[in-house]
Amino acid sequence: MDVQQEENKPELKPTVIWKCKNADCKAWVREEFAAAEYPECPICKGPTIRSYKHLPAVAKAKKARKKAAK
Ligand SMILES: [Zn+2]
Repeated sequence: MDVQQEENKPELKPTVIWKCKNADCKAWVREEFAAAEYPECPICKGPTIRSYKHLPAVAKAKKARKKAAK
């Protein structure tokens, strides 16, 4: 495998997305950010189809767990 060490090039990973079935509508949403199991198009509210897209990996927020139970 060819490993590149350029820091300004984010690593692209094949990511599951839902994209709009309407060819005129370019909207899509990452599956992990989808509001529902079968999300509707965020733009035209039409049906979406499952697909893949090469996207930069989303950095997991390490500080997401705030302890508010005090
Ligand atoms: Zn749409």
